[in-house]
Amino acid sequence: MLLYHRILPRLLTLTLTLPSRPASQLLLRPSRFPPRRPSLPRCAALCQLADPQTVVDHSDAEEPEDHADAEEPETQFDAEEPLGDVQVKLPLDRLFLPPGAKVTPGDEEGVTARVLKGSNIVLGTYARGDAQVVNADFVKSSVRPDDCPKDGRPEFALVGRSNVGKSSLLNSLVRRKKLALTSKKPGKTQCINHFIINDSWYLVDLPGYGYASAPQEARKDWDEFTRNYFLSRDNLVSVFLLIDASIPAKKIDLDYASWLGQNKVPMTLVFTKCDKRKKKKNGGKRPEENVEAFQSLIREYFEAAPPWIMTSSVTNQGRDEILLHMSQLRNYWRKH
Ligand code: GDP
Repeated sequence: MLLYHRILPRLLTLTLTLPSRPASQLLLRPSRFPPRRPSLPRCAALCQLADPQTVVDHSDAEEPEDHADAEEPETQFDAEEPLGDVQVKLPLDRLFLPPGAKVTPGDEEGVTARVLKGSNIVLGTYARGDAQVVNADFVKSSVRPDDCPKDGRPEFALVGRSNVGKSSLLNSLVRRKKLALTSKKPGKTQCINHFIINDSWYLVDLPGYGYASAPQEARKDWDEFTRNYFLSRDNLVSVFLLIDASIPAKKIDLDYASWLGQNKVPMTLVFTKCDKRKKKKNGGKRPEENVEAFQSLIREYFEAAPPWIMTSSVTNQGRDEILLHMSQLRNYWRKH
């Protein structure tokens, strides 16, 4: 076990075929904290306290673009489709190996064929054909973790700074143009909003953080109940922390990732707006560069690479890949 998780990954360097430049600079260091949930052994563990007094800087944020009603192209993920033609060297320990994924020396070919596009996520044995969303419905808004559904179905929570593209991603995942509008209705934006998917698992829309205009007291309340939710929800399989890849890294996002890691809450970093091209006012960086920069800022706190994925709700980049990732985490969670 020790050999597999700690030593072997450091010895192996795989040549992988990926569509874009992933975080090839990512270095991994041992963490002082073991993962909270042994069932997800390679989820990130961090060792830095979040600063609750963080001041949010929105000065370099771009004007939002309105594409909410854009037509969604219908695409089906094919696990066997070619993964692009850019050759990069990616050490095994920069990949997120889901529970059940077995990678042994000499198996590099198999790994190459099963890395999800624009991510470091390997498809493991728990990835099944149940990834696509067939139906999705709003269930309820809860103001306290205790009010959330109690049926024990597995759930994934989406969280991120306001305007990061959370509603757009949710709509994209479920292929519905306006499902997430439910959570934007007055009175529900600061609630825990549950959506049931295929009658078997939940997507949970959490309040956005970093509202510059909200009163300090109100912000503290939302933060507190969101954090209580993370710490008390037993059926929370993983948090999906959304980071805007079209602007440089924000301290508040780094703090949030840090807090989740320190509290051993499994997380996936979802980089949004990856379709946005270079603009002068965001420092001229491409999304790939911002993704890389974000990861290099948090890298010293991670024992192993946390799962990360690049997405766009405009092009639907990453949508099917996220669903596959969720599917394998869910299937593993159900078995353990
Ligand atoms: P939320 O506040 O986090 O729910 O963010 P929204 O989903 O409402 O999106 C905020 C703004 O960003 C809207 O104007 C969206 O049209 C825009 N947006 C969201 N996702 C994307 C994306 O993937 N690409 C681009 N170019 N714009 C996006």
